[in-house]
Amino acid sequence: MLSVIVPSYNEEGNVEKTAAVVGQLMEENSIDYEIVFVNDGSRDRTWELISAMAKRDRHIAAVNFSRNFGKESAIFAGLEVAKGDCCVLMDCDLQFPPQVIIEMYRIWEKGGVDVVEGRKKSRGKENPVYKLFSLWFYKLINNSSGLDMQDSSDFKLLDRAVVDALNRMPERLTFFRAMSSWVGFNTEKVYFDVADREIGESKWSGKALVKFAVNNITSFTSAPLQIVTACGVITFVISIILGINTLYNKFWGGAGAGFSTVIILQLLTSSIVMFSLGVIGYYISKIYEEIKQRPRYIIRDIVRQENTDDKTQDQGESDGK
Ligand code: UDP
Ligand code: MG
Repeated sequence: MLSVIVPSYNEEGNVEKTAAVVGQLMEENSIDYEIVFVNDGSRDRTWELISAMAKRDRHIAAVNFSRNFGKESAIFAGLEVAKGDCCVLMDCDLQFPPQVIIEMYRIWEKGGVDVVEGRKKSRGKENPVYKLFSLWFYKLINNSSGLDMQDSSDFKLLDRAVVDALNRMPERLTFFRAMSSWVGFNTEKVYFDVADREIGESKWSGKALVKFAVNNITSFTSAPLQIVTACGVITFVISIILGINTLYNKFWGGAGAGFSTVIILQLLTSSIVMFSLGVIGYYISKIYEEIKQRPRYIIRDIVRQENTDDKTQDQGESDGK
């Protein structure tokens, strides 16, 4: 069986269409399937719609978060709930062409391939600033972690073995795209064009994207720590030049000339020290987050056919493996 996992956040305009399109596609290709919708604390009618669908249709499972935990958490919740022999992650807005799922499934079916990765041939409509930053972001990740992440997406098919491996990974701050590469396994690629979003808006704000980038860079590389070292070297060079200048002024220039140099040096050093402390502090805060061992998310209820009444789980129980 194939599980299609769909994180959904304020997608009332899309969920039914997505379910219909995927369902029809699976029927046409006679693939046994389930669609796992994970409602990531939507403020619109998303949950109402998906829970109704789950009650009606044995192919649909609906998971509800107690609040918005973010797409990453929704992906991992979906992976934990999914029962398929392989799982496909896709967005609710049909920006990832659903026909590609069939292509991925056929590759997996032949055997020997555990991960079928969707790569973006073109990126669809995107803000140029966003494009530039995502280019930098992936360059940095590629160079420092050795994972080839350029043009990668969350559109992936994973074998049960890979899903189990991901479910066993204990960290709380997850980056699905990198983690699913990191676990290894036999990977094959398929290329697709990103379609434009038809209904609703992109759920990413500028702030969310910056947070996403910083989180993932610090999760997968220690490059920011190296920046501090580089800054230290640069400051050292500057202070040598300023030092020579100060000495020159002291012996051959006006008497008060050194005063401004001292001020400049002081400012420079203290700003560097503060910056370094900031970076170190950031890592410490991540250690703190991880050490708390909080569940990645809290599932409030799961609706699926063989268990018609809503099952309410205790807080943290979803963490059980
Ligand atoms: N999403 C989510 N939680 C969030 C933000 C987004 O589950 O906090 C889901 C959203 O419903 C969609 C997918 O993640 O299914 C991709 O979101 P979106 O299309 O807004 O991102 P973009 O395509 O612009 O990168
Ligand atoms: Mg989208």
